Amino acid sequence: MENSLRDRVALVTGGGSGIGRAAALAFARAGARVVVSDVDPEKGAETVRMMPASSTFIPADVSLRPEVEQLIGRTVDLCGRLDCAFNNAAVEGAIARMHEYPDEVWDRLIGVNLKGTWLCMKYELRQMLKQGKGAIVNTSSTAGHVGSRGRMSAYIASKHGVLGLTRTAAVEYGAQGIRVNALCPGAIRTPMTDRLLGADPERAERMAQFIPMARFGTPDEVAEAAVWLCSDAAAYVNGLALPIDGGYLAH
Ligand code: NAP
Repeated sequence: MENSLRDRVALVTGGGSGIGRAAALAFARAGARVVVSDVDPEKGAETVRMMPASSTFIPADVSLRPEVEQLIGRTVDLCGRLDCAFNNAAVEGAIARMHEYPDEVWDRLIGVNLKGTWLCMKYELRQMLKQGKGAIVNTSSTAGHVGSRGRMSAYIASKHGVLGLTRTAAVEYGAQGIRVNALCPGAIRTPMTDRLLGADPERAERMAQFIPMARFGTPDEVAEAAVWLCSDAAAYVNGLALPIDGGYLAH
């Protein structure tokens, strides 16, 4: 997909790690000028060091309205516009059954994963409406489609919510030249998965047995789909919730 985003400006949240880092690199390979954002300044800056000189890091906690407003404002001040936004930052939260799930973790998780996605969209949409054009991709999950026994109710609720926001925005803004889609990754090897699986390679093996392709995905395999959805190759794709899951949801 070389040059598919030439002269475009792309923003990636959660760009300091995992899928976000791979996406930042993929957007740059596709020719976009990339703004990487993350709550962790060290990891975000590390991503930018792997990228072309036109790339920039702007720190922001996506759960905080002033920081998100400033992130989009600084992106536009610096790059003149915003063509592609990959709203990808999220946290996994606690592992606890619903009746024991800690309130404060619930609030923080919904604040980052759901409100954070909405806040990013709110300010991205304002800019894209001025331009009359834009593409937004939100990271949901296979956990946005189905429940699970994994004791992650807040995470699952947040990822269902991200699909609701995505579909609503696709319907509300499609006629104004803005496409909004979501990625639904399955099990992808990232620091988040490593934290969830702990130091238990056998658990990962067992999980892989439930995936039709019998393996975890890579961050690059998700990143390439984000680039495609932002490119003109997907010009008539709007409101899609795209599984990238080795066939998991086909079960
Ligand atoms: P990751 O490696 O943990 O990366 C997430 C990044 O987001 C981290 O750099 C994290 O910083 C950052 N972040 C956390 N809270 C933030 C906030 N409030 N504001 C801005 N940035 C924040 O996770 P990943 O696996 O790449 O996940 C990326 C996305 O894919 C997430 O939306 C996740 O839910 C989704 N997803 C992942 C999988 C999977 O199997 N890995 C499957 C389905 C969906 P800190 O590390 O400092 O918190």
